[in-house]
Amino acid sequence: MGALASWVVLAVALGQSSAPYVRSRVSPGDDATQCLYWTQARVVWQQSTVGNQKVTNHTEFQAISDSFQSWQDIFANCGNLTLAEGPRVDSRTVGYARTGDNINLILFRTRSCREVVDSGDACFAADTCANTYDCWDDSAGTIAITLTTYDERTGIVYDSDISFNAATFNFTTGNGGPCGIVANPNCVDTDVQNTATHEVGHFVGLDHTLATGSTMNPSAPPGEVSKRNIDSGSRSFVCAAYPKGSASQPCIPLPPGSNGDDDDDDGCSAASGGLAALPLLAAASLLARRRRRGVR
Ligand SMILES: [Zn+2]
Repeated sequence: MGALASWVVLAVALGQSSAPYVRSRVSPGDDATQCLYWTQARVVWQQSTVGNQKVTNHTEFQAISDSFQSWQDIFANCGNLTLAEGPRVDSRTVGYARTGDNINLILFRTRSCREVVDSGDACFAADTCANTYDCWDDSAGTIAITLTTYDERTGIVYDSDISFNAATFNFTTGNGGPCGIVANPNCVDTDVQNTATHEVGHFVGLDHTLATGSTMNPSAPPGEVSKRNIDSGSRSFVCAAYPKGSASQPCIPLPPGSNGDDDDDDGCSAASGGLAALPLLAAASLLARRRRRGVR
C-alpha cells in the first residue's frame, strides 16, 4: 500500500479544486473532456425496499427523500430537470443494464465483501462482488458511492445509483448533536441526509470541491449535518448546467447532429464519486473509480 498511499497524497495536492463548484468530467479533473449531465426532463429514482437493515425505525427512507427534495427545490426554481421518487424496488443491482429494468437505485450495503466473499472469488477481479453478493466492495473508509454511467463522447448520463456503506458506518437520522462517549438516542453519527445530499450532488453531475462550506466537500466527520443544506456554489451549478427553459449544458459544444442517442459505436463509462470520512480516504475512493467500455 505504500506506493499507492503516496499516489493518493499527490492526487489530493493536484486534483482538488476550491472553486464554488466543480462539474464531473468524462476524465475526472481533465477540463479537455466533456462534463456529465442529464438531458431528459424527468429523472426517476427509487429506493431499495429493505432500506438500512441495521436499523429498525427506518427513518432513512424519509431522510433520503428529503435530500433529493432539497435539490429538486433548486431545480424547480432555476433548473430544467425534475427529480422524481418512484416506488421502492426489490432490486439490489447497481450499474447500467443495457436491457431490461434500468433504475436509478438508492441502497444500503450492510456487509463487507471482504468478510462474506471468499478472497479467491473471481468477482473481485471482475468488480462484480457488490451486486453478486449484495456487499460493500469499495474502500471501508468511504461512506457512500455514486456510480454514474454516461456516454463517453457526449457526457450524457444514462444511469446513476447511490450505495451507502452501512457495513462500516453507523447511519443516523437524529438531530441531537454528535454522539459522545455516552450516545443519546437522537445523536448524530453518520447522518443519512448529510451523506445523501452530497451523493445526489454527484448524481446530478457535481464533482468534489474544497470550497469552504460546500455540500460537495469530499470529507464528512462524524456528527456533521451541514451538508444537508445545499451551499450557494452548488446551487449556482444547477442554474448554470441545467438552465430553466433551455437545454442542459455540456462543457464542450457537441458536434452537430450529436444528441448522444445514436445506438451504435457508443462507448459508455461508469464513474463513482465517494464521500469519505477523511480527505485521504476521499482520494482513495477516486482510485476506486470504475470504468467500462463498450456498453451500448
Ligand atoms: Zn463525494
